[in-house]
This record gives sequence, C-alpha cells and structure tokens, in this order.
Amino acid sequence: MSWMATERFEARTAPGGLALVQELVNTHGVTRFGADLLADLTTARHWLSGAAGQWAQAHGLEPPELSLPATDLDAVRELRTAVKGMLEIPPGERSTGPFDASGVVLPRAQAHLVADERGRVAILPAGTGASWLASAVWSEILLAQHDGSWSHLKLCRGPRCRTAFYDASRNGSAVWHNVRTCGNMANLRASRARRKGAGQGPGE
Ligand SMILES: [Zn+2]
Repeated sequence: MSWMATERFEARTAPGGLALVQELVNTHGVTRFGADLLADLTTARHWLSGAAGQWAQAHGLEPPELSLPATDLDAVRELRTAVKGMLEIPPGERSTGPFDASGVVLPRAQAHLVADERGRVAILPAGTGASWLASAVWSEILLAQHDGSWSHLKLCRGPRCRTAFYDASRNGSAVWHNVRTCGNMANLRASRARRKGAGQGPGE
C-alpha cells in the first residue's frame, strides 16, 4: 500500500491522515507525471482501496473494506473538485473565522465520534464508497485546520500542474510541488526569456 497518486509526482506528503486529502487531489492527470486515476471505475476502485488502506495504517486502524459503486464515481470527482478549490486559496488568505452555516459546500458527510479507555477521542469515517471518502476527507481537514497543518497543504504554482504538496519549509515559502521538476522547468523558461530579452536589447 502507498499514497500511489502523490508518489507519481514525487511531492512531499502531508503527515498522518492528512495525506489522504492530498492524495485525492493528486488523482488528477498531469502530462509527464500520470493519468487521471478517477477517469474510470477500475482505476478509481484500485486507488480508493489503496488510499483507504494507507489512511488506516496512518491511524493504526484495520483497513476498511470499501466498495465503490459506479454511481459513486461522479461524487468522488466532485469531492476532488471541492477540495482542490479549497487549496486554490493561498494559505494566508484561507478563512480562520467561525464556520459559516449558510455557505455549506457539498457533499455533507456523517462520521462516528468514539472514545477509548484512556480517554482519547477520535473521529472515524462512516459509510462506504464516496460517502466514506467524504467523511474521511472532511474529518482530516477539520483536524488539520485545528492543528495548523492545513496551511502547509498547497497546490504547485505550475499552471498546468497544480499538484498538492506539503510545504515543510520554515517560512512556508515553497511554491513548487517538486523543485527538480516544476521548479527547474520554470527557471529554465525564465532564463530563456531573459536571454531572449537581452538579445533584443539595444546594442546587442
Ligand atoms: Zn508542479
């Protein structure tokens, strides 16, 4: 088991279960890195079972036995779009104010709140298929918004990339999902543009 969607991009993964949120966004297809894992039911089922297993491992839980009915595929894609939209907002501009009950985005999800004998409380996802995923993803975002790790989850600056990565830099200044790929390509383009600009300058 692995975070198979994110590993294709060689992006830094978010800690613990938050990596599931990143993983959902990174099922997207990007030329050079990989195809859309939600393009058809077979790849979507394969991805969900691997990601759910990896998520369970991150929490020390047994892997859930999930089914993904064909009718759920659109809901999973819509969840991806909703989460990507949240990450499109730069961390410094994301709301930290009170929850706005009048502006609820879909899908709604149910979850179980449980306590153990030592007095620790956890949120466990409920349902199966797209419902389970929505439950796990909203739970992880909730926890990340409370512990601050949400602001480290970003989208790559590459306009055709937009891969989700975890910015572990001290000042939170990372902009590329991977400096060796997207970062280098951008530097190359910038230096080419500079050379071109210099070549057209007066006296050259
Ligand atoms: Zn990128």
